Formats: sequence, structure tokens, C-alpha cells
Amino acid sequence: MAYKLDKIDTAIINSLMEDGRKSFRQISREINVSTPTVKTRFQKLLNMGLVKSVVPILDTSKLKRSHGIKLESNKKIKNGMSVKINCDYCDGPINDKPKILRFANIERFLCCNGCKTHYKEKYQGRIDSITEQYKNSKK
Ligand SMILES: [Zn+2]
Repeated sequence: MAYKLDKIDTAIINSLMEDGRKSFRQISREINVSTPTVKTRFQKLLNMGLVKSVVPILDTSKLKRSHGIKLESNKKIKNGMSVKINCDYCDGPINDKPKILRFANIERFLCCNGCKTHYKEKYQGRIDSITEQYKNSKK
């Protein structure tokens, strides 16, 4: 599956690449979208593995060469670039729509329902404790 970066995603990434210490609020003012939107999108980019850290270090090998869009020397991300996603269970490429497993504020991308089931079985303990911690942190 290829998730197409839209202009909000690219604006967030490029803004953070200038200064990775910016707050979500600063970014939201800079690019004119709401702070919750910036948070949600940023979380999604983390979950997809494109953004590996809060100071964004991009794995450019995740960017597919598509539509003739290339990463230029300034490393700015552009609209329409696609992010390759691998299955979080079998690490195989996800070519179709991913099966998404959501818990706490985390999304896991799986290639098929089989992998989703296996993932849940394998990590049930960890999923439960993360979910529990997340609930407690919201209290
Ligand atoms: Zn899989």
C-alpha cells in the first residue's frame, strides 16, 4: 500500500526539518491547520515509520520513486510522494489496503487479516499494558 503524503503531511515534515524542536502549536500556526490536526498527522507519520523520531530523521528509502518525483538535494518532501509500508508482523510489503490494528494512540499496519490475528496473539500482553498505560495517562 502506498500512503500518499498530502500538503499537510509535507508541510509538517518540512517545517520540522527546519527545526525539530518546534511545538505542535508553532507548526499549526505556521502552516495554518489546527494543533490537533498537526498532532494526529505527526502520529500517523510516526506510526508509518516515515518519521522515526520526534526530531524527524527520514528514511528516504521509504519513499517510492513514483510519478517522476525525486527527492532533491535539499531533501524537501513533496506532495504526492508515496511511503512504502511493510507489514508489522511478516515485514512483507503491503500492496493493497493495509489492515490496521489500533490500540492506545498506536496504529499497526498489517498486510492481511492472518497477520493481524497473529500480531494480536503474539503481542497481546504488550498491547494490553500499552492500552492500560495510555488510559491511565488520560486520567
Ligand atoms: Zn503480513
